[in-house]
Amino acid sequence: MTDYQETLYAGYGQRFAIDRMLHEVRTEHQHLVIFENARMGRVMALDGVIQTTEADEFIYHEILTHVPILAHGRARRVLIIGGGDGGMLREVAKHREVEHITMVEIDGTVVQMCKEFLPNHSRGAFDDPRLNLVIDDGMRFVATTEERFDVIISDSTDPIGPGEVLFSENFYQACRRCLNEGGILVTQNGTPFMQLGEVQTTAQRMNGLFADWHFYQAAVPTYIGGAMAFAWGACDSASRRVPLDVLRQRFAGSGIVTRYYNPEIHLGAFALPQYVLQAINKPGNV
Ligand code: SAM
Repeated sequence: MTDYQETLYAGYGQRFAIDRMLHEVRTEHQHLVIFENARMGRVMALDGVIQTTEADEFIYHEILTHVPILAHGRARRVLIIGGGDGGMLREVAKHREVEHITMVEIDGTVVQMCKEFLPNHSRGAFDDPRLNLVIDDGMRFVATTEERFDVIISDSTDPIGPGEVLFSENFYQACRRCLNEGGILVTQNGTPFMQLGEVQTTAQRMNGLFADWHFYQAAVPTYIGGAMAFAWGACDSASRRVPLDVLRQRFAGSGIVTRYYNPEIHLGAFALPQYVLQAINKPGNV
C-alpha cells in the first residue's frame, strides 16, 4: 500500500494511506487525485494539497455557508467561487429562501470527477434548478458580471496556482462591487498558525473596502496546523452582531439539520486569539 504525502508545507505535513486509488488526472489547470482512506473516507487533493475528505468536510462546508447566510437573514442570491467538489453547493441549497445560486469553478474536470467519485459531497445538488454553474476563472467572473449577490463564498484552493488570484486586492474589490446592500463576502483564508501572512494580507486588503471586516475560525482536522480562518467582509456592520436569540430563530426556521453549525458556535467563531488579532492590527475582537 502506498501513501499520499501532502506537500503544502516544506518539512511538515500529513500522510494518508491510499487504501484504494479512485482517480488521478492532470487537468487543464491542476493535478487531481481522489483516493480512499480507511479513516477519512474518500479524499481529494489538488496540486499536492488536501482539498476535502468525506470524514470532516461537514465542518468546513457548514461553517462557511450557514454563518453568512443566517447572519444576513434575507439572502436570496448566493455566489460560490470555486467549490468544485459540490459540498458548499449542497449546504447552500439547504436554504429554502435562497432563490438563485451561481457557482463559478475554473476546472470542469474537478466537477465531473467529484460528481463521479465524491457523490456524498454534492448529493445531487448539481441538479438543483436554482443553480447556474459557470466554468470560468472566478476573478474574471466577479470583474465582469452585471449580476449582484447577497452572499459570496470563496471556496478556493490555497493562493498557489489558479487560486492565487482569489486572494488579490482586485478580487476583493470586485466582490465588493458584486454585493447587494447588506451583502457579505466570506473566504477560506488558510490556517493562521501556519499561514499567518495570508491572514495579514487579506486583512490589509479588506480594511477600508468593507464597512466591517474580521475573521472567524473552525478547526477542520485535515486542514493541518490548527484552526482555519475565514475572512469576513460585510457591507453592514450589524451583520456580525446579530443577537444570539435571532440567530437561534433563523436557524430553527431554516429547518436545516447540521453536524457542526449551531448559533453559539456561530458567534464564538469570531473570537480570535491574541496572536491573530495582533497580526491583523485589531485591538480586540471588535
Ligand atoms: N476546501 C478547500 C480548501 O479550503 O482548500 C477548497 C476546495 S475546492 C475543491 C477548491 C476549488 O477552487 C477547486 O475546485 C479549484 O479548481 C477551484 N479554483 C481554484 N482557482 C480558481 C479560480 N481562479 N476560479 C475558480 N475556481 C478556482
